[in-house]
Amino acid sequence: MGVTKLWQLLEEGEEGNLVSLSDCSGQSWAVDLSAWIVHGRTGAEGKAHVSTTFTMMRTVFYRALCLLKHGIKPIIVMDGQTAPEVKSQTLNDRCERTHGHSKVTGHSRAGFQPSNDMCRRLLEALGLTVITSPGEAEKTCALLNSKGIVDACLSDDSDTFLYGAKTVYRNLDVKDESVRGHTVSGIQALLKLGQRDLVVMALLSGCDYGSGVKGVGPKKVMDLIHSINKYSDDVLKRVCDWRDNIELDTLQQQKEQLTSTSKPTHCRQCQHPGNVKQHAKDGCVVCGSSEDCIVDNNVPCTCEFHKLQQTITPYTTELDLREKAMRDQSFPNRQLLNEFLESKEMFEFRNVAVELPRWETLAKEMLLPGKDLMHKMIPVLLFMHLHGTLCLPGAVPLRILRESKQNHVLCYQVLWEQFGFDKWTAQSSDSIEMTPPAKKQESGNPYIVNLPRDLFAKKYPTLVEHFTKSCGKKGKGKRSVEDPSQQKLTQFFKANPAKKRLFQEENQA
Ligand SMILES: [Zn+2]
Ligand SMILES: [Zn+2]
Ligand SMILES: [Zn+2]
Repeated sequence: MGVTKLWQLLEEGEEGNLVSLSDCSGQSWAVDLSAWIVHGRTGAEGKAHVSTTFTMMRTVFYRALCLLKHGIKPIIVMDGQTAPEVKSQTLNDRCERTHGHSKVTGHSRAGFQPSNDMCRRLLEALGLTVITSPGEAEKTCALLNSKGIVDACLSDDSDTFLYGAKTVYRNLDVKDESVRGHTVSGIQALLKLGQRDLVVMALLSGCDYGSGVKGVGPKKVMDLIHSINKYSDDVLKRVCDWRDNIELDTLQQQKEQLTSTSKPTHCRQCQHPGNVKQHAKDGCVVCGSSEDCIVDNNVPCTCEFHKLQQTITPYTTELDLREKAMRDQSFPNRQLLNEFLESKEMFEFRNVAVELPRWETLAKEMLLPGKDLMHKMIPVLLFMHLHGTLCLPGAVPLRILRESKQNHVLCYQVLWEQFGFDKWTAQSSDSIEMTPPAKKQESGNPYIVNLPRDLFAKKYPTLVEHFTKSCGKKGKGKRSVEDPSQQKLTQFFKANPAKKRLFQEENQA
């Protein structure tokens, strides 16, 4: 989606790094929700007994959690209820391709409304800000980015750059915890194209708002932009004014004249009119010799044919594409230009904040028992607490139990004080069962959480110092302290050496 083949061009040029989400901590992102909804809904396709709503809600929920866990503050942007008029034809075409008939009436998106509403309730209950774009979600995302309200956009749509985004992340991989990142400066460096140049590309080779000029692909448009750059700074303006460009009219006439002009015989040695034999005898006027001529002397030929050719050569690509574009009476597509280039101020807030979840609504929307939801949410909330993206009153780490590793990341396993959920939320959680397990050491205790060492040490250096010291006392190799269950086991093995051997053998096997 977006500009035809733009992502492909960037991939071919290896523009765009794989970015680990942990390197984006502290950033705020404008998230174009449409991709999540589409991926979520298609995730259920072909699977019997799985509802599209169920997979959609899970996809949206886990993707949001993934961002939150890494200290990224998302602001969710939804498509407006009506697509821009210019897009309705493209939507219709798309519908016809997928369903065999055109289903979109006018340019209403009423069909998406129930999904949007459900996702909004879910994400708001999660504590996120959700806004509805007046038009395309990626347009609002780009505007938030270009105004510096967010650091980046998360969108699979390459149009985002045409709307003025500076940094676009795409292909969020929840498993790998990564995205692919593209920047406007990276595109400039690789393809020598700026935002307005990309609009030229959309205009000529197609995007969601039109199929472009017949027979013109993105690479051809790049050639055009680079050739025009040699004599004009604003390619978009030049292309939009093609119809009224008298200079180009003249050049076009000269081009046609050239095709009807026959090239006189030229000397194979100096490339000027005449031939080798004749030049050897009388010399060549163009070379300026009275006898013989000079091999490849680079003096341009002055014959009519070559004069014409030299005049039009710098404009060949432009004349060729202009000719094709002029066959379309409606060129340039004004609606497309307005869509990309007109930006209206449309929001009041200046910074993105994440709030405490509303447990009751969240559990209801996710159809999850309160206890299960808590198991999923507590680690994420603690990550956000450490990243400083959420104020979590009552979150008190008691001690580090041991060092651990999770997804190749060095962690501390930390025991936290249990807290009442009324502390974490303004709203009462009485009506749903939220009671955490009674015993702290019970397996699966949600208050024992693996947290990245660096992140934890930054917020709680004293606890880490204490832990490191006590590890030192116990000697190396045994980097685990004060875990009562571990101590009990050690004492038990001391009393039963035979059992210990058995336990070790079992664990090795
Ligand atoms: Zn010659
Ligand atoms: Zn010559
Ligand atoms: Zn010539």
